[in-house]
Amino acid sequence: MVHFVGAGPGDKELITVKGMHLLQEADVVIYAGSLVNPELLEYTKKEAEIFNSASMTLEEVVAVMERAESNGKMTVRLHTGDPSVYGAHREQMDWLERLGISYDITPGVSSFLAAAASLKKEYTLPGVSQTVILTRMEGRTPVPEKEQLEALAKHNATMLIFLSAGQTEKAAKRLIAGGYRKDTPAAVVYKASWEDEKIVTGTLENIGQKAEEAGIKKTALIAVGDFLGDQYQLSKLYDKYFTHEFRNGISE
Ligand code: SAH
Repeated sequence: MVHFVGAGPGDKELITVKGMHLLQEADVVIYAGSLVNPELLEYTKKEAEIFNSASMTLEEVVAVMERAESNGKMTVRLHTGDPSVYGAHREQMDWLERLGISYDITPGVSSFLAAAASLKKEYTLPGVSQTVILTRMEGRTPVPEKEQLEALAKHNATMLIFLSAGQTEKAAKRLIAGGYRKDTPAAVVYKASWEDEKIVTGTLENIGQKAEEAGIKKTALIAVGDFLGDQYQLSKLYDKYFTHEFRNGISE
């Protein structure tokens, strides 16, 4: 059996209890060395075989899983954050399907959730935005034409841009061109939940320069939207005049 496990954003305590237990039992661990905190490997058995997928191809990763499987060993494939977000996860699952190897998935805390915690903000503020866009800017690999930043920008929704912190200035310019106000608040969160976490805040007009001054080029998220500001409506959920399934509101 192969267990895909979300390692969480960095802090070794932000893996799920289930994910930690699987790591403790694993005979073989393949981890994404470029982003997974190596401290997570402290949970593994002494005799566990550890592979860093950063220098491996898809074929090599699957070959390790296949060999473990034929020796009756249990494999954990440890992905950063949650495997479903930019995890190159599907291709591994499909390959295992073809080989008839069974697998399951234990989700993880994605970095965009850790970033909200570090920023001490809520992405879905009433009256501000009820939509969160997770995206990336094209770099060495393309993004579909319909999902260009300018097109996504017109919604003025809360936006988290992955894999693009090396091009923050360019992203900000394109977001303004697409319809965010120049003074829309923006932040760059570097290594959310790690000990060397760094946060830079500003507006779309100056966030590129600020991120550059802070030397942030990778392992960071660009967060954009008025959720970073201070204007919003109070929620209906806890409004004393509002009745819902679990609580009767008072009438005036
Ligand atoms: N599956 C991961 C994302 C992998 S793509 C997840 O769910 O978080 C790698 C990108 O994720 C990085 O370029 C960066 O944009 C973001 N990222 C990963 N860990 C991060 C962290 N601790 N803090 C900020 N951004 C992070």
